[in-house]
Amino acid sequence: MELNICHLYPDVLNLYGDRGNILCLRRRLEWRGIGVSVTELPIGGETATLTGADLIFIGGGQDFEQEALLDDLHRGRDAALRAAIEDGVTVLAICGGYQMLGNYYETHDGVRCDFIGALNLHTVGGKDRMIGNYLFRCGAESGGGTVVGFENHSGRTYLGTGVQPLGTVLRGFGNNGEDGTEGARFRNVFGTYSHGPLLPKNPVLCDVILQTALARKYGAAELSPLDDAAEAEAHDEMAARLLAK
Ligand code: GLN
Repeated sequence: MELNICHLYPDVLNLYGDRGNILCLRRRLEWRGIGVSVTELPIGGETATLTGADLIFIGGGQDFEQEALLDDLHRGRDAALRAAIEDGVTVLAICGGYQMLGNYYETHDGVRCDFIGALNLHTVGGKDRMIGNYLFRCGAESGGGTVVGFENHSGRTYLGTGVQPLGTVLRGFGNNGEDGTEGARFRNVFGTYSHGPLLPKNPVLCDVILQTALARKYGAAELSPLDDAAEAEAHDEMAARLLAK
């Protein structure tokens, strides 16, 4: 078995060590003897690279970077991404990358970024940023576990019909600080506001994502258990601290 991972826009969308998620995906496959290749697709890269990807990762970026990639995005990469998502390719998208999968982002300064419309959601920039460690519980279709994360965004995301939240906020803001939803699930897309080492801190979610990609490619795929004692302890300690607030 082997997964081809495409890291989209590593040159502009990579805040707070989002790249660490790629390392985590890679290691958890290698530890199980599953092959993995990672291809970076920066601005100006070959759109064809998206074809053949089993898992696409998109990190976060500030408004500036999101605006800077728009020309490149709309030179065919938008259609390729939409096609991949319709085809069931697994996608993990963080914050600015997550917003980019939606219909549009209207920044607090009034700049409108038309995005790719693969997911029926939109984002509106607010005056106050939503910053901090936070905690949410994934829906059953995403494993049902709790996720400890870090968020920093001014955008408020609102989900339209046909899109489910990734989870429910237990502490912090999530999609918009109003409706208690966090992130989005649509087909095999996982969108979240959780930055940085999302997957190392939340190995259960990492395996749900890997399993989703493997199942599409190979049918039912069993992942052998790993020794996650240290990760689980770190996760539980952080969850307890957040719940005590
Ligand atoms: N620019 C977006 C916002 O502030 C995304 C930020 C991010 O990716 N951290 O909402």
